[in-house]
Amino acid sequence: MRQVNLNPLRAASNETARDINRRIVLNLIRTGQPISRADLARRSGLQRSTVSLIIEQLIADKWVIEGPMGRLPRGRRPTFLHLNDQRAVICVDLRPTRIALGVADVNGGFSSHDILATPSDPAVAVKELARRIRAIVKAQPEKCFEGVGVSLPGRVDLATHHLAFAPNLGWPPTDLKTPLERATGLEVELENAANACALAEMWFNPAQFRDLVAVTVSEGIGTGIVAQGQLVSGRHGMAGEFGHVPLDPDGPQCRCGNKGCWEMLASNRAALRYYFESGQQSGKFTFQDLLRLAEQGDVLAGRALNRMATQLGRGARMIVGGLAPEAIVFIGEFTAAWDRFRPILDAEIQTQTLSTAPTLVLAGRDGATARVRGTMVLVLQKHFGAPSSSVAQAAAR
Ligand SMILES: [Zn+2]
Repeated sequence: MRQVNLNPLRAASNETARDINRRIVLNLIRTGQPISRADLARRSGLQRSTVSLIIEQLIADKWVIEGPMGRLPRGRRPTFLHLNDQRAVICVDLRPTRIALGVADVNGGFSSHDILATPSDPAVAVKELARRIRAIVKAQPEKCFEGVGVSLPGRVDLATHHLAFAPNLGWPPTDLKTPLERATGLEVELENAANACALAEMWFNPAQFRDLVAVTVSEGIGTGIVAQGQLVSGRHGMAGEFGHVPLDPDGPQCRCGNKGCWEMLASNRAALRYYFESGQQSGKFTFQDLLRLAEQGDVLAGRALNRMATQLGRGARMIVGGLAPEAIVFIGEFTAAWDRFRPILDAEIQTQTLSTAPTLVLAGRDGATARVRGTMVLVLQKHFGAPSSSVAQAAAR
């Protein structure tokens, strides 16, 4: 018989119960805002007086603000509650060629601040990032910055906080967290870009999927797996490296050392290679140029994209066959041509998988900012999710 070992745990204290109720109320405001105290009491099952006490504290802590008065037919005029968008996070989207910095607030609002070329030396990158982060904090004294979220083109070992695997970035295993925290005085959270996108889907998608896979497609392919509402990290944070599963042993050499990895066949780089192989000039031609040409009816550009779509779908069968998610969410520039990609992806994914309930194939709603919104979730989620760390700390005492 399978047993759950409860020995290391202690019974919940009043403090734990209060903490959990606070998180429940905060989450109900997040998903239901604007919302009244009466609605919160009804939806949470908590006493009205308990809800009022929690709200008082959340307003004092600047997590929640009271909005305009509502109107009800019978003359009562409740005030509505919202999350306070002065609660914000500095978001860093680190890619192989460029780093973008911005500010995302708790409601998903985002403003871009800075873009720089990615330094080849991680120590230079840390120094430059710290300087720019301090400048952003100084320029916005009205904001409560909760921390810095960094999205990375690689995997992060959660035990050591080292960037463990980033073949497209070319940096050695690096600790970015400790030096950045020291230099900025802010808490720093690191996550793989695809995991960040999966978190953003969990937070912002009203469908509230419990099992989903986010697939980011750019220079490479990354996947972020959410199973039963939890991000799957695996040993050393390496879960989700479908992009480096070799699908064609005779395929092109990948920077990870293998040949014919999924990302060598289905990324933006692959589509450009297909186009150049059809005899077209290379030069400064970009993936955006390819999308534009195909849109204008260029047959060879269209064929290159169709080939990319077929390979994307073939690789996605691994994910659907292995994990049976409710939805697979694609994020990347190619979703601008979703009308071309979607039927090919659907045909490849649905025709040869075993599941009786088809997996939804979706384009991320806001591809351009999914990563940065994900880094916001990364930093703020600990105030909204189950208090796993406090239970673990209680267990350790
Ligand atoms: Zn590879």
